Amino acid sequence: MTISQEHYLPESVVAIFPDQYSREYWDRIARGELAFQRCAQCKTFRHPPGPMCPKCSSFEAEWHTVEGKGTIYSWEIVTLALNDALADYVPYNVVLVEFPDAPGVRLVTNCIDASKEQLSVGMPVEVIYQKYSKATLPRVRKA
Ligand SMILES: [Zn+2]
Repeated sequence: MTISQEHYLPESVVAIFPDQYSREYWDRIARGELAFQRCAQCKTFRHPPGPMCPKCSSFEAEWHTVEGKGTIYSWEIVTLALNDALADYVPYNVVLVEFPDAPGVRLVTNCIDASKEQLSVGMPVEVIYQKYSKATLPRVRKA
């Protein structure tokens, strides 16, 4: 099966459940904007978004938009489909991406255009947005 680069994984497994802390993150993603929550007091990033700063305990938060260019911190290849809907999609990758303009954030996503042989720690990537009927997801591609 050919996997479309417009939808890295099937529609049937895509669902998001925003809460009061993550709703802003997902709303911005839907608009094609990658932004991370950070502490309004000490500027420490926190992702996923949450109620309190782990560094200074402030409840004040703000959103910081990043450029969307980062590097792979780690990656893995999933070869066992844990869901029947994914049976035709294995093997697929899961990557952790770091961004120079959001220190400490590691985004869990997929790299849509890199083979197992091409993936490497430190590899430059850029964020793209894949629209599904229920959500828009940030993915990365080789930069
Ligand atoms: Zn803080």
